[in-house]
Amino acid sequence: MSKSKDFYQILEVSKSATAEEIKKNYKKLAKKYHPDIHPDDKEAEIKFKELSEAYAVLSDVEKRKDYNSIGHEAFTSSGQGNNFRNMNSEDMRSFRFGGNTSFEDIFGDSFGGGGRRRTRKKRTPANQQGEDKLYAVTVDLDDAITGSIIELSITRREKCKQCSGATGTKGKCPECNGTGEDQSHQSHYQEPCYNCDGTGEAIVEPCKVCGATGLTPIFEKIKITIPKGIRDGGKIRLSGKGDDGRGTGKSGDLYIEININEHPVYTRDGDNLYLNLDVDIFEALLGAKITVPTPYGEVALNIPKGSDNDQKFRLKSRGMPKMKSDEFGDLYVVIHVKTPKIEDETILNDIKSVMDRTSRLDRSSILDEGMIKREI
Ligand SMILES: [Zn+2]
Ligand SMILES: [Zn+2]
Repeated sequence: MSKSKDFYQILEVSKSATAEEIKKNYKKLAKKYHPDIHPDDKEAEIKFKELSEAYAVLSDVEKRKDYNSIGHEAFTSSGQGNNFRNMNSEDMRSFRFGGNTSFEDIFGDSFGGGGRRRTRKKRTPANQQGEDKLYAVTVDLDDAITGSIIELSITRREKCKQCSGATGTKGKCPECNGTGEDQSHQSHYQEPCYNCDGTGEAIVEPCKVCGATGLTPIFEKIKITIPKGIRDGGKIRLSGKGDDGRGTGKSGDLYIEININEHPVYTRDGDNLYLNLDVDIFEALLGAKITVPTPYGEVALNIPKGSDNDQKFRLKSRGMPKMKSDEFGDLYVVIHVKTPKIEDETILNDIKSVMDRTSRLDRSSILDEGMIKREI
């Protein structure tokens, strides 16, 4: 999915385009980029998938309304993971257009979508399990702290309502005339008919709605519960929410990969959180009581006198909630000592007089150890 292009731009129509204009442009562009015309051309393939995706939404009055009001992102699941990208050309052919118009209705037979072919084609096993789907969503750290429910628009393939997944109407196999034997071989040894696997029965009227695949893509809005404490890159599995299987094959699963945005204040390390806190040199020197944020409210933190730069203070159980547990990680406050820019001579002199009365840093060891004593 081109991030910069919305569905209208992909179909090269204006936002106010009529259904007729959308259909016309789709036909024009889909013919131009169809994978059967551009075999092994990745760019054309991507372009074609984008067109299919855009047309699927804009050709449907309800979906177009949703699209206009919710926006592009919602329809591309945060711009990531949309499974149209993974469609093969069979899927594309089977894509269900608005108002039950099949691929063949729009393109005729010019792309070889239906009809009989003499060539031995690889067929999908009748009871193949549905494919798993993977979507990625990005949430805020807040969602992982409190847990939340998000709504996601997905596409998945479900059993075609027209043919109930049977791919069409069965009848006497036309290749073997119902004998189940391969008619093209004139030898002694009879092979079973490739078209019906020797059963004598075959689809004689392929379902036009699903392009004889038995499955049609649908859009679905689903609610996902983001569990407290989920890690960045963690996956949620929704059993059976992938593609429907073919025949008696069971449905695939839907996996949602959760990516977590960086937080402006906290950095996460496992179940612990880190908070960088600037303190000035006098606070570090004299000690201070500083109000710091935690995800669960403000806390007064005591910085003891004489604290060092990068010193860590642990606020117990103020970090991330631990998954499947009532416990929490810790929040570490890391202080960064800042030096004030003082211009006032009187103040600087006062500080100098204080310095003269204090013990100073001993840097003799670094001078000593930094010198190479071996004679060259
Ligand atoms: Zn069907
Ligand atoms: Zn046959």
